[in-house]
Amino acid sequence: MSAQSANTAAAAPAVKLLINGEWVESAATEFRTVVNPATQAVLARVPLATPAEVDAAVGAAQRAFATWRHTPLGARLRIMLRYQALIREHSKRIAAILTAEQGKTLADAEGDIFRGLEVVEHACSIGTLQQGGFAENVAATVDTYTLQQPIGVCAGITPFNFPAMIPLWMFPMAIVCGNTFVLKPSEQDPLSTVELVKLALEAGVPAGVLNLVHGAREVVDALCTHPDVKAVSFVGSTAVGTHVYELAGAHGKRVQSMMGAKNHAVVLPDAHREHTLNALAGAAFGAAGQRCMATSVAVLVGAARDWLPELVAKAATLKVGAGHEPGTDVCPVVSVAAKQRVTGLIDAGVREGATLLLDGRGVQVPGYPDGNFVGPTVFADVTTEMSIYTQEIFGPVLVVIGVDTLDEAIALVNRNPFGNGTGVFTQSGAAARKFQSEIDVGQVGINIPIPVPVPYFSFTGSRGSKLGDLGPYGKQVVQFYTQTKTVTARWFDDATVNDGVNTTISLR
Ligand code: NAD
Repeated sequence: MSAQSANTAAAAPAVKLLINGEWVESAATEFRTVVNPATQAVLARVPLATPAEVDAAVGAAQRAFATWRHTPLGARLRIMLRYQALIREHSKRIAAILTAEQGKTLADAEGDIFRGLEVVEHACSIGTLQQGGFAENVAATVDTYTLQQPIGVCAGITPFNFPAMIPLWMFPMAIVCGNTFVLKPSEQDPLSTVELVKLALEAGVPAGVLNLVHGAREVVDALCTHPDVKAVSFVGSTAVGTHVYELAGAHGKRVQSMMGAKNHAVVLPDAHREHTLNALAGAAFGAAGQRCMATSVAVLVGAARDWLPELVAKAATLKVGAGHEPGTDVCPVVSVAAKQRVTGLIDAGVREGATLLLDGRGVQVPGYPDGNFVGPTVFADVTTEMSIYTQEIFGPVLVVIGVDTLDEAIALVNRNPFGNGTGVFTQSGAAARKFQSEIDVGQVGINIPIPVPVPYFSFTGSRGSKLGDLGPYGKQVVQFYTQTKTVTARWFDDATVNDGVNTTISLR
């Protein structure tokens, strides 16, 4: 960091913590900076919260749980109704903040918020989502029913790439189920998350029900080991997700980790050519490839291999630029370090013998000499041993592999350890049906490049992309954020005949 930017950083405002309904300055001595990826302007300083602050946030959540868990369902869902209206109202304003701190285009930032808003809309259906079951007369005068009860303080740890959507995957569903929450957003871009938390308070979320702490490893570890935290939701890289899963699990918590990916798009020669090439280019290079569901591998089957020059030509037309500039297709990556990692992997691809058909290194964007830009990059002749195939690049880099048959393509995808998302492009129902049946990946798109399920379903990444049984949002997360209690009840009326002591396990 230069002396000048160090001064700017020191002058930048510090992001506050939210503890028990109060926005408080952290007593932290260590800070990170939030930096605009297109300009390197320092937007804010993020404290690495102290252990006492994490403890205070969990304590506030624990105390609030005592009353919040008994708040009527209707009251909870009406807060969500107000919340969804507020998010809609403030969407453009928050999108501008999101673009400034994360880099993605304004349209994509609005999409980030919208996909989270959909979860809040779904949270408004909690009246039916959190219903238990009932069986009458399981024995004479005996009924059995289940209650879906909240579990207590839940914690959420979120990544940089969706600072609106992923926090909204977590806390609305957790709190509408009657839990309280401590959120730890990415320290790289917490500002739009803070705005969404402010709106939740405005919608009526009571003090202590939603708390916000900032930090990195120490704060995450403190949440994963705190005795009063009952469940941990994590979304981020595989290395950290595995650590969180193991640590929180070892401390007896319910835990779900959504992690890294390598998503294959399988293109059959009968696919709709123009639609497919547009879909591949959008899904590989949109958001500069920084989506866990980005298409990072194109598998061209048979004669579809001939489409490669057209795919490269399309990628070359995409405009690289700052996210707030109209017409930008490919935004900067989030940080200088991320750019170094991505270009380092491109170097490795060249070194390892892949054919670099389009090189995004060294791209210049007029007016933004300091931006973390990497242009669309396409590799052909890639083998499955190369690091550009084995590693998640998380940049605008598409690797292309040619195979002869659909069977070979399915086997290739199934050999890859990740299982977040995949897609097949074809006009054949039979081929698509075979693909959806035989592919061992948790989320499948058919002529859809980024098949992130809508919130009435759940996010169902699988294998190396996920640890834990239940995914975020949808019906699965209601299970994750509740404990099923089963009640077996007998009520005697005056006519009930007393037939003596029952020494068996049978209900009579
Ligand atoms: P990351 O793992 O670096 O950070 C995620 C969170 O963990 C952040 O809040 C961060 O502060 C915290 N953290 C970082 N280092 C830590 C450590 N050593 N110990 C404990 N906590 C730590 O991830 P990222 O770079 O912010 O996000 C990109 C990654 O997230 C990619 O791998 C992407 O595929 C993945 N992702 C997955 C999904 C999914 O649903 N599967 C969705 C979005 C992103």
